[in-house]
Amino acid sequence: MTEQQQQLEDSSCAVDLSASALPEDKPEDKKDQVQDEVFTTTIEATPEEAKQEPQSGFDCFGFSEALLKTLAEKGYSDPSPIQKAAFPELMLGRDLVGQAQTGTGKTAAFALPLLERLESGRKTPQVLVLAPTRELAMQVADSFKAYAAGHPHLKVLAVYGGTDFRSQISTLRRGVDVVVGTPGRVMDHMRQGTLDTSGLTSLVLDEADEMLRMGFIDDVEWILEQLPKERQVILFSATMPSEIRRLSKRYLNDPAEVTIKTKDQDGKLIRQRAITVPMSHKLEALQRVLDACGGEGVIIFARTKVITLTVAETLEAAGHQVAVLNGDVPQNQRERTVERLRSGSVDVLVATDVAARGLDVERIGLVINYDMPFDSEAYVHRIGRTGRAGRTGEAVLFMTPRERRFIRNLERATGQPIEMMEVPGNTAINQGRLDRLRKRLSEAANEDAANPEESALLQELLQRVSTELELTPEQIALAALNLAIGPNGLLRKGDDDWIQNTQRMDRDRGDRGDRGDRRGERRSDRPARAPEENMQRYRVAVGHRDRVKPGNLVGAIAGETGLDGRSIGRIQIFDNHSLVDLPKGMPEDIFNSLRSLRVMNRELQITQDS
Ligand code: AMP
Repeated sequence: MTEQQQQLEDSSCAVDLSASALPEDKPEDKKDQVQDEVFTTTIEATPEEAKQEPQSGFDCFGFSEALLKTLAEKGYSDPSPIQKAAFPELMLGRDLVGQAQTGTGKTAAFALPLLERLESGRKTPQVLVLAPTRELAMQVADSFKAYAAGHPHLKVLAVYGGTDFRSQISTLRRGVDVVVGTPGRVMDHMRQGTLDTSGLTSLVLDEADEMLRMGFIDDVEWILEQLPKERQVILFSATMPSEIRRLSKRYLNDPAEVTIKTKDQDGKLIRQRAITVPMSHKLEALQRVLDACGGEGVIIFARTKVITLTVAETLEAAGHQVAVLNGDVPQNQRERTVERLRSGSVDVLVATDVAARGLDVERIGLVINYDMPFDSEAYVHRIGRTGRAGRTGEAVLFMTPRERRFIRNLERATGQPIEMMEVPGNTAINQGRLDRLRKRLSEAANEDAANPEESALLQELLQRVSTELELTPEQIALAALNLAIGPNGLLRKGDDDWIQNTQRMDRDRGDRGDRGDRRGERRSDRPARAPEENMQRYRVAVGHRDRVKPGNLVGAIAGETGLDGRSIGRIQIFDNHSLVDLPKGMPEDIFNSLRSLRVMNRELQITQDS
């Protein structure tokens, strides 16, 4: 065992389960929403060590004086939970799988130990970090540089598409210790022999799920296959789809596992679902969802005050007990409204984001995002209104077909998958109503009479009616049930054909290869719709024969050009070629780099499609 390993095993760092994600860096309100907790091994201090007050929270990981100084200068006083959990493992050179989102301090969690373990005087890179986008690659490289401030001789290089290949080659030739890059560009350098990985000791896959989503997974596997067999692999991912688990099983060696959960998710179970609803049917869909999933308290979030009023009026007309909470409601009335919701005299609250901030009512079983939230932080806040005090909760998100592309961001923000659901049709709703009626009836039949005097009177009443009208007990019971159900009847009879029509249109959209939902792409050669005004259509030489999927094209093009994946437009795949809409005004050098870019082992040979 080396001196460093000994020091670590004896270290006096205990993991504080209540620590916040980033002790110094977050504003108060954000801290509240995304405060993280980590569940990992606790390392106890020996009595002698406990007496020695550490200078900073970073003292006990075996970091060098130079690094401790840099951290102090950056104002980091304590490691975040993911750092506390990862540092000891990574300093020992162990493989690690970390489930954590951006904002948890995950970059420093791997960068600091990797920097500390670098050997000086080596000519070839020792650390390679793969990141899904050019922005993240730049950000990670900048973090490495900042943390290496105490070692000015250390060289960090970011390599990604859309930048000059030659300058990257000459920097690599001069000698680099850490390379951070997008998979496509890294692979190109490796193929050309300009990135020598023979001396590589550690590989980091940052935001692995995002690399999978962008179609980079084959490239990542190719890179992994080329690396020395003795190497450390660190994988970070916000979510853990099965493909990522498979990758981890295959390429990581007995990895330490660290999971960071956001506070709002911790200890709670919120089932998240999303539903595609055209604008024209939102109000009806809302009533159907309430009918099928409502029960206890419900909060419906709408974007504007006007929408809160429209929604509330519609629901009231349909017989719901509704209240509104928006910026126009004076403070004292807001408190009364929340109290009514808490006590159960109101079941449905229709609110705007600002008005419902911090709302804490235990009986909220369902949150409906009637309008898409402004950003993922607002979404996390909204759904956090349910599942309180250890209860389970449900969240349903309404989105128009165009808004579907935002789903991934929301999944990443919560670290949980969002299931798709369909607008409940009459059959499902009526089955639910029947089930609930049966349950209530059984409960009522089983209950002891709360008031024996009233019960005796009611029995007498039943006796009298059945004698006067000569009715059987079943006929009397049916009449009583109808009375309880009320004049609107039990079954929902309204037209629900539109639901099927919407679903069909949705499927067609998927089949046409719209990227909001990458379920499919068409094989036929139907005439294509013209590109949008600010887009130029390009033709690329890969198609169904190469088994290309829209995600492969998005991933490769985004990686090479540095474009945000979302700004890549429509993709249509044909047997021998595909059409891709890209923003107008592509610089010539990027266009040239795309020409030779290989996707599914074939050069794109991109040309403008007139
Ligand atoms: P990341 O999750 O890696 O994107 O980090 C989020 C932000 O937290 C970055 O701005 C880091 O500089 C900062 N950060 C990372 N670790 C710490 C720490 N221990 N204390 C304070 N800030 C930190």
